[in-house]
Amino acid sequence: MAAHIEHILEKARSSSDLRYEELVQLLSIPDEQLPLLMQAANEVRKNSVGDEVHLRGIIEFSNYCRQQCCYCGLRAGHSTAGRYRLTYEQILNTAEAAAKTGYRTLVLQSGEDPAISPAFVADITREIKKLDVAVTLSCGERSYEVYKLWRQAGADRYLIKQETADPVLYKSIRPGHTLTERLQCQKWLKELGYQLGSGCMIGLPGQNVQTLARDLQLMKELQADMSGMGPFIPHPETPLRFGITGSISMTIKMLATARLYMPWILLPATTALASLHPEGRELALRAGANVIMPNVTPEDVRSLYQIYPGKLNTEDNMKDYYNRIRTMIESEGRTVAAGFGHSFLPSHQT
Ligand code: SAH
Ligand code: SF4
Repeated sequence: MAAHIEHILEKARSSSDLRYEELVQLLSIPDEQLPLLMQAANEVRKNSVGDEVHLRGIIEFSNYCRQQCCYCGLRAGHSTAGRYRLTYEQILNTAEAAAKTGYRTLVLQSGEDPAISPAFVADITREIKKLDVAVTLSCGERSYEVYKLWRQAGADRYLIKQETADPVLYKSIRPGHTLTERLQCQKWLKELGYQLGSGCMIGLPGQNVQTLARDLQLMKELQADMSGMGPFIPHPETPLRFGITGSISMTIKMLATARLYMPWILLPATTALASLHPEGRELALRAGANVIMPNVTPEDVRSLYQIYPGKLNTEDNMKDYYNRIRTMIESEGRTVAAGFGHSFLPSHQT
């Protein structure tokens, strides 16, 4: 192994204070050295956040979206997409079933659906909180007032990824929007006391290791509590249809480097990675990940939430799926967390 990589990994085992150039070097290591990077990340993961894996049940409650993100199959311009919107009762029934199954966090995710009022999301959040679960919302960019309303209704966390730290690339893939606006939303959410989930896609056209290193820096600057990082998967009905699928090894390098650089971070083994590789989740767990977000959306609409093609689906019922994931986690020598799995940042350890 090149001496400088050995040196960086040695340093990273005791200090997360990695410089930009060191991040770039870790993200540039040849695939033969990936096991060494994973091993260092796995050690840091064990020492900083332990062996527990946090399960979050995700309910995709609407796939209507007013946005035109060039990478996403739910974009408004995808006119032939089958659309659905769950009713209040359907969401609540799903949440109850998921809580009964054992999930301690429920994630409510949707496109930016103009027909769903802020009050609807606040009401359903209030109701779901009665199930003694943590609630994460992931409904895109909203005003400060809307985020405040949802926080007051009891939402604990909000997932809104930066997608890419390159402002020029960002503008080109989210027409009419800027990275600055996205970061403003993240700052408001932190200010309102949400635990913030950020993240980025890996393998976007025009992205490189320098950009990815900057992605990690940006997440650290914002003190993200969680970072969802998955491979970009081109969707045939989007402007980025000719893009190349993000690489599994680069995704693993990002996860492992993120763990070394932000030891506290909640790091999901993303569904996008699991969709590309049958053991994607296991690989991620060995590279520093400590969160899994199984899909609990009702089966009759689940396949319509096609952000990207080939999204992992399961035939199992909710309980069987939960048990299957638990078995996988335990066979990796890890345990399913019994608690809510709140942020490990000192500011949340009250
Ligand atoms: N509308 C909300 C939440 C739903 S999208 C929002 O945009 O924040 C959830 C995530 O899916 C996005 O943050 C993006 O990172 C990811 N995503 C979208 N299209 C993708 C693709 N083609 N490949 C991989 N991930 C994608
Ligand atoms: Fe809508 Fe989110 Fe997809 Fe963008 S990424 S089109 S905001 S669902």
